[in-house]
Amino acid sequence: MTMTTTTTHLNKKPRLENNTLVNHFDDLPDDLIISILRKLSSSASSPSDFLTVLPTCKRLNKLALHPLVLSKAGTQTLAVTAKKWSDSAHAFLKLCANAGNADACYALGMIRFYCLQNHGSGASFMAKAAIQSHAPALYALAVIQFNGSGGSKTDKNLRAGVALCARSAYVGYVDALRELGHCLQDGYGVPRNVSEGRRFLIQANAREFACSLRSYISLKSEEGDEEMLLTDLSAVPVHEIHPVNRFLKEWFGPGRVGLAEGLRMCSHDGCGRPETRAHEFRRCSVCGKVNYCSRGCQALDWRVKHKTECTPLDLWVAAAAAAVAMEEIGGDGEAVVIDDDADDNHAER
Ligand SMILES: [Zn+2]
Ligand SMILES: [Zn+2]
Repeated sequence: MTMTTTTTHLNKKPRLENNTLVNHFDDLPDDLIISILRKLSSSASSPSDFLTVLPTCKRLNKLALHPLVLSKAGTQTLAVTAKKWSDSAHAFLKLCANAGNADACYALGMIRFYCLQNHGSGASFMAKAAIQSHAPALYALAVIQFNGSGGSKTDKNLRAGVALCARSAYVGYVDALRELGHCLQDGYGVPRNVSEGRRFLIQANAREFACSLRSYISLKSEEGDEEMLLTDLSAVPVHEIHPVNRFLKEWFGPGRVGLAEGLRMCSHDGCGRPETRAHEFRRCSVCGKVNYCSRGCQALDWRVKHKTECTPLDLWVAAAAAAVAMEEIGGDGEAVVIDDDADDNHAER
């Protein structure tokens, strides 16, 4: 009996003819491919890293653009650059946004609001993201409310700005924590509460420090150092320049679109927001040379850069005169001291 079976089996025509290719890809169920594509869209390192799938074949093209896949697209997958901006890039972001992707809603909202000057649809895409508690979108809407962006000075709504900021801070967004801290300290859009404001600022700094520490540790481990306490820091979100801010900076950067006359960019390097009307942003009242979309941007830029640059012209003149006088007397002379604690308190309100 066994012999017979074996003989029958051996005599059976092989399933694969030498010149016939069986396409196992066609046998795979759609949901399996979709789950693989979801993984790819969430982890791709750039838009092209994901989009190269599209021209492979009709089936992959269709499945890669499935809402279940696009809703998972990660920040880097959506990180289109101003240099490569095109109708198809716009269409890709829109497909992802329509699939319910909050990051895509935020990116498309910011680009439409600031770059394409379409304030209505820009704000409504940001609102779609904000409804999903997307922290950068909540903060972006807060900045728009604080400045009355896209409208006139009378469209400023400080209370709404603080409320949006508070929601963003609640989910741990550093920019919002910092902004809220300054609003509380200054009594801007909210009753003044210096100690509570200080608490938010300390929280923002602590989170920022943790992020820097985490970057440092991962750099060290890449360099081959022994295992470090990554687990302790893994819950802290990394705070680096968001691709959307990079997009704005690049869009209005040298040799590109350029801003309408009289409008200025936020002077903080990590921001990229432009004014939507003349004199919209806060100006440093000491030197008058820099402008900021928010208290948060001003405080950060002061710490990182502006502290060493900001000097009123009359102080320079006084210092020069003092130096000349000292030379004449032959003394050591005293350094001109600029109030270190001024931080952003010297800004126009
Ligand atoms: Zn800014
Ligand atoms: Zn200044």
